[in-house]
Amino acid sequence: MLELRNLQVLYDRAIEAVRDVSLSVPDGAMVALLGSNGAGKSTILKAISGVLSQEDGEIVAGSVQFEGESLAGASASDIVRRGIIQVPEGRALFAPLTVEENLLMGGFTRTRAQTRDGIERIYSLFSRVKERRHQIAGYLSGGEQQMVAIGRALMSDPKVLMLDEPSLGLAPQIIDDIFTAVVELNRSSGVTVLLVEQNAQLALEITSQGFIIENGRIVLDGPSDKLRANADVQEFYLGIS
Ligand code: ATP
Repeated sequence: MLELRNLQVLYDRAIEAVRDVSLSVPDGAMVALLGSNGAGKSTILKAISGVLSQEDGEIVAGSVQFEGESLAGASASDIVRRGIIQVPEGRALFAPLTVEENLLMGGFTRTRAQTRDGIERIYSLFSRVKERRHQIAGYLSGGEQQMVAIGRALMSDPKVLMLDEPSLGLAPQIIDDIFTAVVELNRSSGVTVLLVEQNAQLALEITSQGFIIENGRIVLDGPSDKLRANADVQEFYLGIS
């Protein structure tokens, strides 16, 4: 169980990006974080992954707890070792390296045998990644790069996979392939998924619970099917009025 309690995050000691956010993500669940540009979704993921300091961000109040322990003071690589990994927005692949080399970079916490097994698991999840394994990552299509980024994250054998806008800029068919693979992964290996998306329709279809963030606060949350039926959500996030 991943739990945020009354989290408050500032950038540059002044910009309040996250205000009093409390949420829990049960083991094995798929949970969506929705909201418009600049609402604070990515900041919440970065607070969990321990990478805020790279951007002069800081948790100034509240806590992030995982499996009953606080993550305060843990480094980003400690957090990966504890089982939480983030696929950043924009994928952040090592563009000049091959697909397989990118995957290997994700296995830094693992033994050689675990790395070999991990690579095979990713190739069976994403056949396109296998086909492209010797190609330079920077030359792949956006959708293929997203698959590699997810694959690289899975190399750490995470308990919690956090995805930041995986559908951004991709064609519907490849979005479908990616979301199908994520659902399959959740069902087959019980990986907990925290999904940040602007595509609310899609996110609420595959998750069981959602949180809507505006101006750094949670303004609405509940079961995904209830959120889909909510008139405000339909008007503001699903384009139905
Ligand atoms: P997006 O989908 O655009 O990434 P988001 O909901 O993920 O939106 P955040 O990126 O978390 O939103 O941004 C929340 C707020 O914090 C915004 O007002 C943003 O301008 C500000 N912010 C984000 N990153 C930084 C940073 N590195 N330095 C200063 N302010 C930042």
